[in-house]
Amino acid sequence: MKEVKIQLPVKDLPKSWYNIIPDLPQPLPPPKEPETGPSRLEFLSKVIVKECLKQEFSDQSWVPIPEELRELYIQAGRPRPLRRAKRLEKLLKTPAHLYWKREDLSPTGSHKVNTALAQLYYAVQEGVEGVVTETGAGQWGTALSYGASLMELPCVVFWVRNVHDWKVDRRTLMKMYGGEVHPSPNQLTEVGRTILKENPDHPGSLGIAISEGLEYAEKHDGYAYSLGSVLNHVLMHQTIIGLETIEQFNIVDEQPDLLIGCFGGGSNFGGFTLPFIGEVLNGKRECEFLASQSLAAPNISQGEYRYDFADHAGKTPLLKMYTLGHDSNMPPIFGDGLRYSGASPILSLLRNLGHIKTRTYPVDEKDVFEATRTFLQTEGFLPAPESSYAIRAMIDEAIECKKTGEEKTIACNVSGHGFLDIFGYKSVLNL
Ligand SMILES: *Cc1c(COP(=O)(O)O)cnc(C)c1O
Repeated sequence: MKEVKIQLPVKDLPKSWYNIIPDLPQPLPPPKEPETGPSRLEFLSKVIVKECLKQEFSDQSWVPIPEELRELYIQAGRPRPLRRAKRLEKLLKTPAHLYWKREDLSPTGSHKVNTALAQLYYAVQEGVEGVVTETGAGQWGTALSYGASLMELPCVVFWVRNVHDWKVDRRTLMKMYGGEVHPSPNQLTEVGRTILKENPDHPGSLGIAISEGLEYAEKHDGYAYSLGSVLNHVLMHQTIIGLETIEQFNIVDEQPDLLIGCFGGGSNFGGFTLPFIGEVLNGKRECEFLASQSLAAPNISQGEYRYDFADHAGKTPLLKMYTLGHDSNMPPIFGDGLRYSGASPILSLLRNLGHIKTRTYPVDEKDVFEATRTFLQTEGFLPAPESSYAIRAMIDEAIECKKTGEEKTIACNVSGHGFLDIFGYKSVLNL
């Protein structure tokens, strides 16, 4: 019998991250200044951790993970298992082999810890006195609060108001880690005051929360601004997921034909797939890649590939990416972590060159959460609402294999657990 739980020994935790930039088939379009206003690149270089900014433009393929940070990764439970979903295969009567990577085992509930710990490690090295950020679904704010608590740094979080207001339990967790949590838009910032003047009940958006966090960093000396997705250095930190997965497939002597991830800004999808995509680009492997999204925010599936800001107020440089427009309105969904206007520039380029396939699911989330119910009843673990999109796509592919008789090996990344999102499942599944 093939193994169902593939665990790497701790000593085999990767020693470097993979940076795909030098291996891209075309140069990555650089960030650009808009035609008017102050220099955004200068502003960003003042508020972002220096080492992260260096990594953002690095042309080194392998960037060593500092030893102390590897220890923090191990403390957080890395390496994480890869699982074969035997009972799910049996239920679906599919000839496909289904695997899932367990980022749901993270202490805070998502893969975001992988970059939070890295950014905070460098922040401490550089004498930063506090960190500030935005959060949408709340997973990133929790991950940064957790990392900051380990480093004994203050952490300020601007949290999209309509999510902040209903995710009471996640808010409590964030505060237990020591995070200072503010619903966004907020009177604390000029951006927030302007928006609230027009609409005191504004529900907020990730773009607005980013603008508020950036303003806070600008006005508080010693504070650094941390981003949880989209940027190159964030995706690079996340490649630890895919690098472990490559080793794990080698252990079972099987290679994936298709990798699937849910897609918001692209950090878990990129972290999972980029080490594999690099090998495809270098002619070392054959594999396909599928990004699964909500129609509420189909950035990489249906957006335009052009330069756009990454935040509501236009404080960031322009990035060349698939975008829905930086101030677009997106309908609410429970998989709120997937609700963002722009897609990572690296993954946007790869998509534009035809290396990534995409799929979208309806805003009502019914089919998507049904997939999670099936997964829960066969595998026993509860994925995050965002991860449900990857699971839905994997099940759809497995059903397709049943029709064609193909014995494909498919793997998806389960980016987080759903224990603090039970309310979403309850609502959509009428429980
Ligand atoms: C934030 C988040 C996502 C979406 O963000 P990406 O940068 O696209 O990965 C997906 N799943 C979980 C659990 C998250 O917390």
